[in-house]
Amino acid sequence: IASRLLAYFFKELNHDQVQKVDQYLYHMHLSDETLLDISKRFRKEIEKGLGSTTHPTAAVKMLPTFVRSTSDGTEHGEFLALDLGGTNFCMLWVKVTDNGLQKVEMENQIYAIPEDIMRGSDTELFDHIAEWLANFMDKLQIKDKKLPLGFTFSFPCRQTKLDESFLVSWTKGFKSSGVEGRDVVALIRKAIQRRGDFDIDIVAVVNDTVGTMMTCGYDDHNCEIGLIVGTGSNACYMEEMRHIDMVEGDEGQMCINMEWGAFGDDGSLNDIRTEFDQEIDMGSLNLGKQLFEKVISGMYMGELMRFILVKMAKEELPELLNTGHFETKDISDTEGEKDGIRKAREVLMWLGMDPTQEDCVATHQICQIVSTHSASLCTATLAAVLQRIKENKSEEQLRSTIGVDGSVYKKHPHFAKHLHKTVWRLVPDCYVCFLRSEDGSGKGAAMVTAVAYRLADQHRA
Ligand code: BGC
Ligand code: MG
Repeated sequence: IASRLLAYFFKELNHDQVQKVDQYLYHMHLSDETLLDISKRFRKEIEKGLGSTTHPTAAVKMLPTFVRSTSDGTEHGEFLALDLGGTNFCMLWVKVTDNGLQKVEMENQIYAIPEDIMRGSDTELFDHIAEWLANFMDKLQIKDKKLPLGFTFSFPCRQTKLDESFLVSWTKGFKSSGVEGRDVVALIRKAIQRRGDFDIDIVAVVNDTVGTMMTCGYDDHNCEIGLIVGTGSNACYMEEMRHIDMVEGDEGQMCINMEWGAFGDDGSLNDIRTEFDQEIDMGSLNLGKQLFEKVISGMYMGELMRFILVKMAKEELPELLNTGHFETKDISDTEGEKDGIRKAREVLMWLGMDPTQEDCVATHQICQIVSTHSASLCTATLAAVLQRIKENKSEEQLRSTIGVDGSVYKKHPHFAKHLHKTVWRLVPDCYVCFLRSEDGSGKGAAMVTAVAYRLADQHRA
């Protein structure tokens, strides 16, 4: 039956199916003109989020991070880092030695987060974190030390200082009760106190974009933007203090966690959102929220693909109607240079079908349209950030480095290339260098902690 349905499904596609798919998904092709228009809208969002009177109703929150400086290469010490926010929970021990040549030693441990913990109660979640941390410290035999710790917490948070961070709302697959509106540092501290078998000094909470910028900034001191395209999507950048109304003081810079995933939550992207995007939103844990993120990020891309296939089939295809069966990883595999078509066949067969060569070619092509659409939209917002920085510096030409992380950016065979090319085309007066973060955002939290220690040292001196 599945193969019969699929035959129906691609009946129209057998003949010159490439053109048919293109026509069918015509609205997912975004011209440079449209991208520049979206970019302009996002520039307005940036200003809205930063201004004191417009901030309360702004969709893009532009949250101050209290990170004022990137690494200058003189940091040293022993640090712990936690990273919560994707599909895995990661712990790191980092030792930075500085005797002429700075050197970093690392140990890490990764756990997959069970779904019942992601969506259980606050105490369950934080008791688990404390327990994982205790085991990790046991393993490294450092439980007797009170080490400084940086926490990468990849959700929108209102920070009042580096070590106080109130969760605005959960995103992605998280929905632990009783955490929204509360300070996550206090929640971890309490969980550790409940155990009573070790102690740590929580110095900083950072968003993963900030962690990525800091990690890359360690290798390239020009790095002033952090970008994530993974399970979720977001970016941060160094803004001038004089433009940040929410924080007192006009001197120097501060990193802003933009939370660009919420772009469009006020309806400003309604004209480019498709019926598929609406379906995704309707089936999500946070209805009406993170609308831009739902159009571009990995958590939703496989789902988007499935909705397109289902719609194209114009008929119920039971295998495709179970959520999550088409995974974002399948999109990456299906677009691989050498064996993309073969992978498409594997994926379709795994869905219980007996695809023809044409079906596989069509699926391969739909994947390309979906991922290109996502990358294009990322460039629109990124171009706005670059223009903003360029104007801040009153420079005719900007040289800037963007630190990037996230599974979609790193694992998809063409995503990064398309993103780079389009950015260079949209903002030709910006010389942008993209730097992949190789050590994860956790290391960045350790770097923020290390920088905070260095700055505190300088104050004492
Ligand atoms: C969160 C951001 C985070 C991004 C990437 C989004 O869902 O709101 O804080 O940076 O995902 O992980
Ligand atoms: Mg200010």
